Amino acid sequence: MIEDTLHKLVPGMVAVLGVPLDENSSFLRGPALAPPRIRETLHSSSGNWTTERGTDLSAVDRWLDLGDLSLAHGAQAFAQIEETIGRLLAREARVLTLGGDHSITYPILRAYARAYPRLTILHLDAHPDLYDELDGNRWSHACPFARIMEEGLATRLVQVGVRTINPHQRAQAERFGVEMIEMRHWQRDTDLRLDGPIYLSLDLDALDPAFAPGVSHHEPGGFSTREIIDILHRLPSPIVGADLVEYNPTRDLVDMTAMVAAKFYKEIVGRLLEA
Ligand code: MN
Ligand code: MN
Repeated sequence: MIEDTLHKLVPGMVAVLGVPLDENSSFLRGPALAPPRIRETLHSSSGNWTTERGTDLSAVDRWLDLGDLSLAHGAQAFAQIEETIGRLLAREARVLTLGGDHSITYPILRAYARAYPRLTILHLDAHPDLYDELDGNRWSHACPFARIMEEGLATRLVQVGVRTINPHQRAQAERFGVEMIEMRHWQRDTDLRLDGPIYLSLDLDALDPAFAPGVSHHEPGGFSTREIIDILHRLPSPIVGADLVEYNPTRDLVDMTAMVAAKFYKEIVGRLLEA
């Protein structure tokens, strides 16, 4: 699938890639089912293709959905993800990756760090995902940002929306110099003081479960859909890559989280298309 469409990618295009991996989820499986469900919702006739900022994605030929990776397991799956993202970046694409659970952000960032030696990550999540290991798994979806910071894959890691931090993860955040705006301190006018190039990692459980019940870990007290869209719209350019992770269709109610994910897909592709 990737091989068949890769030649259509010319420099400067936006590529969307599905990564259906959920074997590193600590609590429930399901996010591997997400990418096709998000696409199905996006392609339903319930909405149109124009982003809020006015880009009609149906009329723009500078973006391409490559479909889903066909993945092995364990270390081999991570190697496949890193290698594929590396190939897309070698073609000067900006990539939106559809998860899968949050463990996929580590191999994605290994590829991004080679292309962008100075990268700021904006990580929106109820959880800091900074565990050294969880249940004996160092590749758990609770650990990707520990691996990313240990390997120096980003210049800055800015986490917003966190509302589950424990003493271990607070020590990890201090050790790695993570800039964290916990949910309890968030205000609509909080200035994130970001500059590009920016990579956005969006865990859908950053949202309050009232807005997005289709996630494995319900953590009340989170963002509204509107607040996340406003954060996305206010980010300075360039946004050079993004992932949308942790949608779990087995937990969804009347596809409402699929619709939230489809909306973010559209708005993120719109932002990635901006220079
Ligand atoms: Mn996460
Ligand atoms: Mn989370």
